[in-house]
Amino acid sequence: MKVQYFEGGMYEHMCPGCGYLHYIPVHYPFSNGSQWIFNGNFEKPTFDPSISMNGYCNYFIKDGFIEYSSDCKHRLAGCKVELPELKLKFI
Ligand SMILES: [Zn+2]
Repeated sequence: MKVQYFEGGMYEHMCPGCGYLHYIPVHYPFSNGSQWIFNGNFEKPTFDPSISMNGYCNYFIKDGFIEYSSDCKHRLAGCKVELPELKLKFI
């Protein structure tokens, strides 16, 4: 799967541009009021609207692909790549 549930109403995905997991609030808004709609598909996730991580990383996630805008501050700026598979989490 490319997205999995984290906690606190947030979902996580690996960002190949940053090399870190990003957490997206879906069930409840973030402290700044931001909230996204997730299509519930863990293999071909879509999040709406677009996502911005502190201006460093701006992107869309659609049908399992991550599409970076050209103003990202990493090497994948302007690129569209498939979301990496997440490793299963062991509890
Ligand atoms: Zn990122």
